[in-house]
Amino acid sequence: MAVFLFDSAGGDAGSILFLALLILGLYFLPSILAWNKGDFGSVLAINFFLGWTLVGWVIALAWALKSEPKPTQVVVQQSAPQVNPPSELCRACGKYSPWGSRFCNSCGQPFTMGGRA
Ligand SMILES: [Zn+2]
Repeated sequence: MAVFLFDSAGGDAGSILFLALLILGLYFLPSILAWNKGDFGSVLAINFFLGWTLVGWVIALAWALKSEPKPTQVVVQQSAPQVNPPSELCRACGKYSPWGSRFCNSCGQPFTMGGRA
């Protein structure tokens, strides 16, 4: 029915689509503004369910504008110092050899069980 109304008003399909997107974009403006913020879910809920009431839309907009940006979680993967990986520390020369080695790769010193020389 709406299409016929727009047709009678002289709009073609393209402009109707554009108008629909414009209205949709305006309707979800609060959600768009809250996109990267912590309260995005809440704003979207109010925007979606109460946005058709002007009050709900304004509340969603206000909430979107006041909510803090989501703290960006920067995960710094610091690789642990290469000491812990299974390896044998040679007591004689202080170099590491692959875990399970019986003799030091560098100086040939024999490893004893328990790491005691
Ligand atoms: Zn050694």
